[in-house]
Amino acid sequence: MSKESIKRRDFLKRTAVAGAALPLLGGESTAMTIKPAASLPIVISSANISRSPTGQIVNGGIACVNRAMEIIRSGGDTLDAVVAGVNIVEDDPNDSSVGFGGLPNEEGDVELDASVMHGPSRRAGAVASLRYIKNPSKVAKLVLERTDHILLVGDGALRFALKQGFRKEELLTEESRLAWLRWKENLNPEDACGPSPLKTARSGGGRVSRADLTPQQIALNEWIEDKLRNRPTGTINCLAVDPNGDMSGVTTTSGLAWKIPGRVGDSPLIGCGLYLDNEVGAAGSTGRGEECIYINGAHTVVENMRRGMSPQDAAMDAIKRVAARYGNNRDELSKFNLNFYAVNKKGEYGGAVLWKGGRFVVHDGKEAKIVESAHLYSK
Ligand code: ASP
Repeated sequence: MSKESIKRRDFLKRTAVAGAALPLLGGESTAMTIKPAASLPIVISSANISRSPTGQIVNGGIACVNRAMEIIRSGGDTLDAVVAGVNIVEDDPNDSSVGFGGLPNEEGDVELDASVMHGPSRRAGAVASLRYIKNPSKVAKLVLERTDHILLVGDGALRFALKQGFRKEELLTEESRLAWLRWKENLNPEDACGPSPLKTARSGGGRVSRADLTPQQIALNEWIEDKLRNRPTGTINCLAVDPNGDMSGVTTTSGLAWKIPGRVGDSPLIGCGLYLDNEVGAAGSTGRGEECIYINGAHTVVENMRRGMSPQDAAMDAIKRVAARYGNNRDELSKFNLNFYAVNKKGEYGGAVLWKGGRFVVHDGKEAKIVESAHLYSK
C-alpha cells in the first residue's frame, strides 16, 4: 500500500472517531477538530484573540500557553505554570477582558474575579469583586496556599491582598474609561440589564466627522463601538497537565462589562468557571457566566469525562444542557455565547462553544496552535 493511501486511511479513521463522538441532538453540532493524539505535558487556554484600542491584534492565549509550558518543561509545578501564563494577559492593558485594562462595572470601577485549582493537593482558592489588584489569579493562589478558605470577596479580598504585600493600583486605562463613558452617554434604561446594552453607538460622540479624526482616533472609536454593540465578555482560562498526569487550572476575568457592582460571574466559582479532579481531568469556561453557573458548567464537564466521555464530547454535552434550558430556542440563545475547554489526565483535549467561531489554544510540548472549538449552532 502506498504511503499516501496509508496516510489517507489513517486520517479518515481519526476523523471518523471525532465525528462520531458528537451526537446531533438539539442543534447542528459539528466536530470541527480531529481527535488529537494524547500527549503529556499539555497546556490549553482560551484563545483571547482581540483587537486592541490601537487596532493591533492581541494574541493572549498563545503567550499564556508558551509561558506555562516553559515552566512545566523546566520541572515547575502546574499551578505556578498556569498562573504565570495568565499573568501575562492580566498585565496587558490591551486585553480589555482581564486584569489591568479590563472593562469596568456600571460605575466605572474595575472589579476582578479569579479562581485556581491544584490537582495534587486537591485544593482551590478564589477571589471575587476584587478592586485595585491587577493579578487576581495570584491572590486566589495565596488564598489556596495560605488559608483554609476558598473564596474571598470585595473589600475582604482586597484587605487580604494588601496584607500579603500586593500594591493598590488604578486598573482603569484611559481607553476603558472612554468606552465606559460612551456606554453611559448612550445608556437606555430599557437596555440596562439585557445582554446587549446598546442599540446605537455614535461615532466620535456624533459631533465630529470621521474625516477630522486621526487613524488612532478612528481605531479607538471602532474599538469602543465594538464594545458597545457586543456587550463584552472575555476571560482567560488555562489548564495544564504535566508529564506525571498532575494538573492545575486557573480562570481570571474582569467579568461582564458594565455589570452591576458586586456582580460575580462563573470565573471565581469552583465548579462553574473552573473545576478539576487530578484523577480525571480539568475544565474551564469563558463567556456568559450566568449560563455557566446555571449548569455548574466546569464540574459537569469533568463529571462527563469521569463517565468516559472525551473532553470534546464532555464539553459539548454541557453546551447542550445550556441550550436545553431555553428549549433549544435559537432566538433566545443568540443573545449570548459560552465556551468550555477540557483536558483529561491522558492529555486529550477539546473545546465546545454554543455559537460557531470559538477557538482555543493548545501547547502540546512542541508548539502552540489555535484550534477551532466544536459548535452547537452557527448563525
Ligand atoms: N465568564 C465571565 C463572566 O461571566 C466573562 C467572560 O468569560 O467573558 O464573568
